[in-house]
Amino acid sequence: MDGKRVRDELIAELASRVAADGSPEVTLATVLVGDDKPSQVYVGSKRKKAVEASLKSRHVELANDATQAEVEGAVAELAADPAVHGILVQLPLPDGLNAEAVLNLIPPEKDVDGLTERSMGRLVRNNPGHAPCTPLGVMRLLERYQIPTAGAKAVVVGRSTLVGLPQVLLLGRKGVDATVTLAHSRTRDLVSVCRDADIIVAAAGIARLITADHVKPGAAVLDVGISRTEAGIVGDVDFDSVQEVAGAITPMPGGTGPMTIACLMQNTYNAYQMLKG
Ligand code: NAD
Repeated sequence: MDGKRVRDELIAELASRVAADGSPEVTLATVLVGDDKPSQVYVGSKRKKAVEASLKSRHVELANDATQAEVEGAVAELAADPAVHGILVQLPLPDGLNAEAVLNLIPPEKDVDGLTERSMGRLVRNNPGHAPCTPLGVMRLLERYQIPTAGAKAVVVGRSTLVGLPQVLLLGRKGVDATVTLAHSRTRDLVSVCRDADIIVAAAGIARLITADHVKPGAAVLDVGISRTEAGIVGDVDFDSVQEVAGAITPMPGGTGPMTIACLMQNTYNAYQMLKG
């Protein structure tokens, strides 16, 4: 499953939709605190993709030593600005800042990363809102590659609020209808748990955790994990062995990462629609 290609298709589709709508100024605001290099790269690529999707990008940068009040002030200003539709606060924030308090200033309509308590509540209750972009990207890949989900057995490896838990909710939703098992660091016999699955989403952050032994022939395997090793970026899936047995597999990099960005753009457009009423 080629995440880059699907990302490009989704971004082009979004740009056409914006044009068909009379090219409204749909604005994604990004907030970057400090000088963490990977964060700068992530924010830079999100801003670039926003422009490709015909969205406007607004960027706020604060110094490494910004206070909690300064960061909260910047986010509160964007939250109150009717010209801003989506707000993304790049994580992690520098040590000493309370990210939860900052995130929770974002109104659910503008929470295009889907990370606040209120967004999570809406996801659980199936109310209009934004789901986190990475698990949403996994869902888009399953759709694009026509992987059947209704009645399928899915295993999600990892239970974070950023990926694993929302992934479980999205796979188990009415209309998607997978039967979902949540595996984690205390799961007994991960091999047999995974081997029963038609769909595996690996989001543990452990390099090459999932090998061919874990995978039923023909299963779809989606790799979310990112480990930076001497050999470069490595996923949770041992790609070389698993591709021999899987029916469909995402590469790492080039799979779920690009999809995360595409879904951020879709969420921003949805935010605009929601705010417009
Ligand atoms: P996290 O550390 O918060 O959660 C990891 C989860 O994995 C935990 O719930 C833990 O129980 C589980 N786990 C750990 N060891 C395990 C094991 N041996 N067996 C089974 N489960 C185990 O991480 P996160 O924020 O959910 O991110 C997970 C990974 O996904 C990281 O590598 C992160 O870098 C990556 N990530 C990728 C994207 C993307 O766009 N592809 C986006 C976000 C995060």
